[in-house]
Amino acid sequence: MATALITGSARGIGAAIALRLAKDGFDIAFNDLNEGCFENNDIVDRVRALGVKAEIFCGDVSKHDVCEKIANDVNEHFGSIDVLVNNAGITRDGLLARMTEEQYDSVIAVNQKSVFNMMKFVGNIMRRQKHGRIISLASVAGLYGNPGQMNYSASKAAIIGMTKTIAKELGSRGITANAVAPGFIRTPMTDKLTEEQKAAMLAQIAMKRYGEPEEIAGVVSFLASDDSSYVTGQVIEISGGLSM
Ligand code: NAP
Repeated sequence: MATALITGSARGIGAAIALRLAKDGFDIAFNDLNEGCFENNDIVDRVRALGVKAEIFCGDVSKHDVCEKIANDVNEHFGSIDVLVNNAGITRDGLLARMTEEQYDSVIAVNQKSVFNMMKFVGNIMRRQKHGRIISLASVAGLYGNPGQMNYSASKAAIIGMTKTIAKELGSRGITANAVAPGFIRTPMTDKLTEEQKAAMLAQIAMKRYGEPEEIAGVVSFLASDDSSYVTGQVIEISGGLSM
């Protein structure tokens, strides 16, 4: 049985990806900050009900040594890591003039350094396996910029550069690396936006609706499947036509 490790998967897009990859037959290694993230939350039970194995490997993925332990523990427990989904992410929005160093550094650490950490440690395991799929959550903010999100846009643009680099470094080892760039998806992360911000976003979307986490999970499923075996170094925008 193949295994998928999904960071930040207690809720939102990560949880939808876990459910979809479980339906595709993958055993699921969940990750989130701590066990509390999975309390009052039936995502692990829903995945197990599909007949696959599921375990939680908690830890802050912005920390280098924590990621090394998570990667080794998942590999030891399941025997392989076939798919890595770099999903954990945060926002700490503010216009540049008022953005604090803490706001900037925290977003870069969680959104960007976590991807370096996981690509490095899981990449080493995949190199030994001679196969693997690395799928990272970028954002339209990383492609086009977004006012009030200097920190977030920087982290997501970096993920695109990291994805293309690792695709070139690891392609000959049977490993693909791709990114998805969601637009406005309904999750706890976007629930925080004001009605004014949500309306401004909606006005720019060709399909005139927000996306659902399952619509991101469907594309991740494709990138994890044999159908995408010759796709690497790409960024797939999933935004209902936010920009064309
Ligand atoms: P979300 O609902 O806020 O979920 C993110 C998850 O990541 C949460 O469970 C969170 O845990 C976890 N997390 C945060 N920091 C972590 C850390 N240091 N270590 C481990 N886990 C951590 O967000 P989402 O909307 O599902 O977003 C998922 C990904 O898609 C993110 O990378 C986001 O940037 C990207 N994305 C989302 C949208 C959108 O419209 N929603 C658009 C573009 C890109 P806590 O609950 O403890 O905070």
